[in-house]
Amino acid sequence: MRYKIYGYTFEADIHCPECTAKRFNLNDVFEGKVNDRENNPVRALHNWELNGDESCGDCHEMLF
Ligand SMILES: [Zn+2]
Repeated sequence: MRYKIYGYTFEADIHCPECTAKRFNLNDVFEGKVNDRENNPVRALHNWELNGDESCGDCHEMLF
């Protein structure tokens, strides 16, 4: 089962799926093939990793 992804971490911030999709190919992210500008892997965030008050670093939409 593939869980719902609420956001992604890269470049020391959290980003919503929509903004992440503008920057990266999400299938490549899912397979762990994408690194950000700081050369850290772009990582998917699941709901149990979030407090519920996070917002996107780009568009400032809440992730929940
Ligand atoms: Zn966003």
